Amino acid sequence: MLNKVSIHSLRTNYLGPSLSTSYQDPLHIVKGEGQYLYDADETQYLDAVNNIQHVGHSHPKVVEAANQQIKKLNTNTRYLDEVIVNYAQALTAKLPDGLDVCYFTNSGSEANDLALRLARHFTDSKETIVLDGAYHGHLISLIEISPYKHNGPGGIGAPAYVHAVPMPDPFRGKYRGVASDEKYAQEVSKILNSIQKNGGQVSIFIAESIMGCGGQLIPPDNFLKSAYQLVRGSGGLCIADEIQIGFGRMGDNYWGFETQDVVPDIVTMGKSMGNGHPLSAVVTTREIADEFDNGMEYFNSFGGNPVSCAVGHAVLNVIDEEGLQKNALETGGTLKVLLNQLKQKHAIIGDVRGHGLFLGIELVRDPETLEPAGSEADRIVNEMKENGILLSTDGPDHNVIKIKPPMVFTEENALFLVEILDNILARN
Ligand code: PMP
Repeated sequence: MLNKVSIHSLRTNYLGPSLSTSYQDPLHIVKGEGQYLYDADETQYLDAVNNIQHVGHSHPKVVEAANQQIKKLNTNTRYLDEVIVNYAQALTAKLPDGLDVCYFTNSGSEANDLALRLARHFTDSKETIVLDGAYHGHLISLIEISPYKHNGPGGIGAPAYVHAVPMPDPFRGKYRGVASDEKYAQEVSKILNSIQKNGGQVSIFIAESIMGCGGQLIPPDNFLKSAYQLVRGSGGLCIADEIQIGFGRMGDNYWGFETQDVVPDIVTMGKSMGNGHPLSAVVTTREIADEFDNGMEYFNSFGGNPVSCAVGHAVLNVIDEEGLQKNALETGGTLKVLLNQLKQKHAIIGDVRGHGLFLGIELVRDPETLEPAGSEADRIVNEMKENGILLSTDGPDHNVIKIKPPMVFTEENALFLVEILDNILARN
């Protein structure tokens, strides 16, 4: 087996230099099981951050489903196949009525790109409203609508058709407090007015109902509801990006948009959907799908292949069979309470937020100025890793520690995480 140093040098020689690795001393992980990862020295790490391995690393039922199907057949959507239709039926059963037409794709980015195509076609427009700080994918079309990328290092800013609402951050945003929802909604109105004044027509409002890369950010109550109403009132469609937050992770709800009491016109999903297998989807209404059926075929070589669908179906089943949404609610709830107790002890913790097993700890240098503690967050995450717990940071100032473990995370895991974090914060 190659050692870390050799792998590192081969990466440098053969992989694109814009790829990054996690942690100051990168990990050489060779095995995953449940909520644990193991490096080449057999050191065990508690994985508190990989939301893609939703039902646990290498879940036996998911592995078995892939194995059985790949041994039998793997083709594409141009053949009649019961695996794809059974999965589409089971997936849409998890969504509100009306959201019942599926397109299968292979990554979150592909799903979002297709969602943009559907919406642009339906509205005959491209004008797009996004949340500042949002990330929706790595394709050109998505970097254009992702302020996280186009306003970040190497970015060239937003194209004229993209309009960003200030990040609806009730803790440290442009408007603060629980009643800031109206102010953020007014920003949406302002954008809609300016699109209209310039002779345009709004096409899309796309948002994660809880922002991931934005820093595990919960918008103030009613903001999304108002935004959806305003956008729809002007003839636009609302896309919910569920790529990070869907499939029971919220605990109280199966989908992130349900936590905000909205129903989108188009939903995109990915990451956790295949537990690491490249599977994603766009789900929309019959009306939008029929409008898109304009003669140009939608074909995707891999999207909706029977192996991917068998994997996706197994993931859905495991979530239900193992009660993982309930676990997210209970274990995530306990963890949030414990983290809030830490907040009372350590002034650097400015805010603890999230739903279920999708939590964020925002670090600040000063409780008054709320100066973001980005380098501290990075140091703490590296120290946590040295103590066997994997986390990461995000948000525009990289000062939010993200907790989004495989959903099999236990209360014992939560207690361990909090104990180690408490020790590290006490030393820092
Ligand atoms: N949308 C969101 C909210 C994401 O977090 C991501 C990935 N981080 C994407 C879209 C893109 O997904 P992928 O990396 O699978 O293309």
